Amino acid sequence: MKILEVDLTNQSFSWKKVRDEMVSDYLGGRGLGARYLYEALPVGVDPLSPDNILSMWTSPLMSAGTLSMVKLCGVTKSPLTNTILMSLMGGNFGPYLRFAGADGLIFKGRSETPVYLLLSDGVPELKPAQHLWGKTTRETEEAIRGELDLKRLQIASIGPAGENGVLFASIMHGGDAMGRGGIGTVMGSKNLKAMAVSGRSKPEIQDRDRFQVVLKKVVGNYKESDALKEFGEIGSTRHVNGLNPKGIYPVKNFQTGEFPDYRLVNADVLNNQYMQKRFACFSCSIRCRRYTEVKAGPYAPVQTEGPEYETIWTFGGNCENKNIESIIAANDLCLEYGMDTISTGGAIGFAMECFEKGLIDLKDTDGIDLHFGNHEAIVAMVHKIARREGLGNILSKGTKQAADLIGGNAADFAMQVKGLELAAYEPRRAKGMGLGYATSPRGGCHERGYLLSEVFGIEQYSYEGKGAMVQRTQDTVAIKDALCFCAFASAGASVQDLGELFSAVTGWEKTEQSLMEIGERICNLERLFNLREGFTRSDDTLPKRFLKEPLPGPNGEPEVVDIDLLLDKYYQARGWTLDGVPLEPTLSRLGLDDRILKTSIFEDGD
Ligand code: SF4
Repeated sequence: MKILEVDLTNQSFSWKKVRDEMVSDYLGGRGLGARYLYEALPVGVDPLSPDNILSMWTSPLMSAGTLSMVKLCGVTKSPLTNTILMSLMGGNFGPYLRFAGADGLIFKGRSETPVYLLLSDGVPELKPAQHLWGKTTRETEEAIRGELDLKRLQIASIGPAGENGVLFASIMHGGDAMGRGGIGTVMGSKNLKAMAVSGRSKPEIQDRDRFQVVLKKVVGNYKESDALKEFGEIGSTRHVNGLNPKGIYPVKNFQTGEFPDYRLVNADVLNNQYMQKRFACFSCSIRCRRYTEVKAGPYAPVQTEGPEYETIWTFGGNCENKNIESIIAANDLCLEYGMDTISTGGAIGFAMECFEKGLIDLKDTDGIDLHFGNHEAIVAMVHKIARREGLGNILSKGTKQAADLIGGNAADFAMQVKGLELAAYEPRRAKGMGLGYATSPRGGCHERGYLLSEVFGIEQYSYEGKGAMVQRTQDTVAIKDALCFCAFASAGASVQDLGELFSAVTGWEKTEQSLMEIGERICNLERLFNLREGFTRSDDTLPKRFLKEPLPGPNGEPEVVDIDLLLDKYYQARGWTLDGVPLEPTLSRLGLDDRILKTSIFEDGD
């Protein structure tokens, strides 16, 4: 794989080739990104200093004709959590980066003035971007399209939130976000406004006949899967109807798990009243994405992409808001400002609880009535956070830091793990999701250990086997992230199918078992990164609310989360000490001993 390194301080470029054995051992995407950051980033670097490294990774399967391999993987050290940060972005940008001649990008240093990267048919150039600074992501994309006479052009950019230092700013490509953990903030700190790519390179496929056979099978899986068909037709917001009756749809900043008004803010309303049309990311037949429009009323006109499930929740049930048009508007503002919707809504829900509990008042909010349910206040606060105005400046640091600044018992209402705001699943009634939040390498993320059996099955209250289930799920997700495979499309290809596809494209044989070992290797390496940064077992925890404030269980009994019980089982399943440190035999089995980790991922001389 060929990686373009951009030195923003010196405005220079170099091309690097990843050793074949590294691609074989880490696949691409999240795997190579973690391996490179572990090797290249000194311990204790300030994430917003020029010393931090921002990197983008594809995989050998991306744009090789495979379905749903679209997720460009951004890796850096998070300014929100100080952990390793891996964030994914769908759409077309990742595949077109490969067409433009690079399998990845590394940005080092900081440009003196704003610039954007243009990579066109393998030729890199840094172009001035002073005139783009301050523009929203949509305006930036339009302006770059206007000044470049290029076909097959794809653009990803930051908006004002990334420029202003909002700690959960995202990188946007149309409505696709590389959203969580402040990767857009790191990009802004480097004075890098955008990345533009164009080209016609063709990815290599070693064994085309074998590839076609596996691809035909996978295409058949997609066609036959009722789950994928339904997912495409309804979209991710179908989870509102699925999860609310199970009591795991968080409401009022996780004070309860059911939203009585959920039928006003669900997929039925969104699809029937606001959807314009469906569309797809590059080379995906599922077409789960949707354009929506608000044509009349106080928030009109809004034409946007989404909102997805987490967003309809974070500005909806999480803020006890039943006005769907305000949710669409808030989603669009986050897209334009370039700001993570989950953390933005999480910060607003936190502020609403602080307001209702008397920790802040109208003087602190510049007169905004922050009672739960006030949809106008939610939209107003999105603007204030992006611009870092008044209370918005405090909330722009994320709920963990905001709680420290507000004081009193505000920390009790900060629904975050390691600084990352939680997503739309109630852990007291979904124990494995709670363990997933507690142990995700980037903080309170739902995606790294998403337990389908809890969310859509019947095992939500049980502790039985959850440690091993979360470990196996995290390893499986790591494989998919390393291959840049969209998690929504999981029903279309098994791990064995992915191994077959990888083997056909690269010529390196991968079985289900060898891929599972790679997933485990990636998770352990990310753990080593975080341990090296000073994280310990005490950071693998949940907000006090889940540990001390019960919700009623299925028979009315009080339900909290016994996090110690879950962690003990999880660490055991992982082959870690009870302090959460990988044991020597685990590291040795996975090829993660010190000597091996000192080998560069790049070929000699690079
Ligand atoms: S399933 Fe949806 S999000 Fe995933 S690649 Fe396909 S269209 Fe994109």
